[in-house]
Amino acid sequence: MHVLGPGFYVEMDIETDELVYWLKVATVGVIGVVTIQTAYKLYANLRHEKGRSRWKEFLAAIGFIPPLIPTALSSGPLSIPLDSKHPLNHNVARFRFLLPQPDQVLGLRPGQHISIAATVGGKRVVRMYSPVSGNEARGYFDLIIKRYEGEHALSKHIHAMKEGDKLECDGPRGHIVYKGRGTFVIGRSKKREKRTFHHLTAIAGGSGITPLLQILKSSLEDYSDCCSLHLVFANSSDKDVFLREELDALAETHSTRFRLTYTVSKAGDGWRGCVGRPDSSVVFKLIPRPSDDHVVMICGPNPMVKSVVNGLKEMGHQERNVLVF
Ligand SMILES: Cc1cc2nc3c(=O)[nH]c(=O)nc-3n(C[C@H](O)[C@H](O)[C@H](O)COP(=O)(O)OP(=O)(O)OC[C@H]3O[C@@H](n4cnc5c(N)ncnc54)[C@H](O)[C@@H]3O)c2cc1C
Repeated sequence: MHVLGPGFYVEMDIETDELVYWLKVATVGVIGVVTIQTAYKLYANLRHEKGRSRWKEFLAAIGFIPPLIPTALSSGPLSIPLDSKHPLNHNVARFRFLLPQPDQVLGLRPGQHISIAATVGGKRVVRMYSPVSGNEARGYFDLIIKRYEGEHALSKHIHAMKEGDKLECDGPRGHIVYKGRGTFVIGRSKKREKRTFHHLTAIAGGSGITPLLQILKSSLEDYSDCCSLHLVFANSSDKDVFLREELDALAETHSTRFRLTYTVSKAGDGWRGCVGRPDSSVVFKLIPRPSDDHVVMICGPNPMVKSVVNGLKEMGHQERNVLVF
């Protein structure tokens, strides 16, 4: 056969069929390489877009799973204006912040929290907060914040905000996620571990109730979740207790599997709850026995958390069954 080269003929000993065969092999090879390269680029893009997985978005876009509800946090840090404020007691209020789009949800899973940042007294301050609204809230989310004093206290700054004033918000953050039906994913990246329990005890000190409430509510709202739940809500005095109506309503509606104990260090006249700090024997007696089927979740001021953890250890609770938020 004669093959035309650049400006001259080359005589080659190749049959036409053989040439066609090799051309086909080369074409399939090129198509294969391009396909693999494109698939890898798509995979890398879906996996690493700002460190967040976009597989679900992709599957929803091609109609493989139902359309996703847009999540505000998936597009990076947000500027969130204050919508309203409702005092819950003398130093705790519920704040509603607006998301950029009215159909968006914040996009946290139960147990996770966000970081809030602002410049307070000339200094940039960043603090963590656990929203009390879930992904049923479209276009907004709610925070319950206790006010602390201090030149650079962010909580004081937020309490002084006016409608329309903005904060910076980012997330999701946190290393404990409640997946439902007693299952938690605990830890970060490679050290992540899945654990399932049937008894969940939550010990909350003051505003430390917020992440625990998310988990309790998510369990109670799921009728297929059969875990038994016990919340011990500790406050300094009866005047400091907040969210009473909401908690009492949950306890009444779900009386078969949700037990609620209020405890205060200083009780006024007519107090009908428990009296004692959350690390006292009065409270510890109410907590189910240690076992690998029983998790104790704790959130509150550091000194409280430390002494409750020590008390639980003395009672025989294993460290792996105690989760500190
Ligand atoms: C995961 C996580 C979720 C959180 N969620 C919430 C939430 O939903 N609502 C909420 O109100 N807070 C929450 N917090 C606490 C919050 O992040 C801040 O620590 C708190 O608002 C105080 O910050 P600040 O800047 O106002 O005060 P700071 O300037 O940090 O402190 C001012 C003064 O208050 C004291 N103080 C600060 N925090 C406490 C405390 N917890 N107990 C006793 N004294 C304290 C300090 O010792 C200091 O004297 C959460 C914390 C974490 C880690």
